[in-house]
Amino acid sequence: MATELSKKNILDFTPPELEDIVAELGEKKFRAAQIFGWLAKGIECFDDMKNVPAGLRSRLSEVYYIGLPEVVRKQESRDGTVKCLFEFEDGAQVESVFMKYEYGNSICISSQVGCRMGCTFCASTMDGLDRSLTGGEMLGQVLAMRNLTGEDIGHVVVMGMGEPFDNYEGLSRFIRLIHDRKGYDLGLRNITVSTCGLVQKIREFAVDFPQVNLAVSLHAPNQELRRRTMPIAGKYNYDELMKACREYTGLTGRRITFEYAVIDGVNDNPECARELASKLKGWLTHVNLIPLNEVKGREYKTAKGKNVAEFKRILESNGVAVTVRRTLGSDIDAACGQLRRNK
Ligand code: SF4
Repeated sequence: MATELSKKNILDFTPPELEDIVAELGEKKFRAAQIFGWLAKGIECFDDMKNVPAGLRSRLSEVYYIGLPEVVRKQESRDGTVKCLFEFEDGAQVESVFMKYEYGNSICISSQVGCRMGCTFCASTMDGLDRSLTGGEMLGQVLAMRNLTGEDIGHVVVMGMGEPFDNYEGLSRFIRLIHDRKGYDLGLRNITVSTCGLVQKIREFAVDFPQVNLAVSLHAPNQELRRRTMPIAGKYNYDELMKACREYTGLTGRRITFEYAVIDGVNDNPECARELASKLKGWLTHVNLIPLNEVKGREYKTAKGKNVAEFKRILESNGVAVTVRRTLGSDIDAACGQLRRNK
């Protein structure tokens, strides 16, 4: 890519930081809000900032670049799902997925290049972690996808490549950037963050962002089974995780979502459903059953429809709120991390 790597990505800066930047360049602070507003529109070059003086635009472009990622590969599904492999200035590639729902358009973005959590059913972790993304790079995925599709995006899910809580700094900055009224102005309740269960960060997140939705990838009804598929369970055991999740709902008053990928012959039997129900009964939770996206090189198969239906019935009959995630983009490489690996 052409841009010099010595420049800084201007998408990383909050309005107060931009005020300092323009002040250093000898300009009035109100220019910062104008610049921030233009960036949130998804402009690709400084000269598109029409109400910003040409001299300032030119001085900014000497030190900064607008870090919208380039589309390296794009797949479109018949159902309107668009999956992109994006590339940043240093050549790092991540995946983002645009999805259409009844309630509006949503994007699933990545928080890291690769992942070091090692979940055994996941393609994103197969080559380990390259690096974390900055807040501006996370925002850049939303802006670039909106430019590409020409569609408004009113919901963001941080559930793509990477573990967001393993990049807490980048995640926090991203939330502040996309929520800022002067820019994209996305409501906090329209953001969902998904973690594989970093207990300390769940506690921090409850204090820092009580309005943002939290989803926890559980994928098992007990420690023994969870440990088989999720190495993080070796660090934070099931009871510790459940305790932190209870603290979260207690502190925030918000419902917590448990993601449960239903894997054939692993965690899809009625005993698993009953055990899970016994743990979640009477608690402010919601279970999202996810038909597993099968990954090349991994032996897991998605559970049979009748087993998923029975699993759901058992949870419901115990008063646990549950949905089965609609399968979107099944005719493209839907499993996260596959597009990057298949390239
Ligand atoms: S499921 Fe999430 S946390 Fe686990 S390896 Fe994949 S990207 Fe990382």
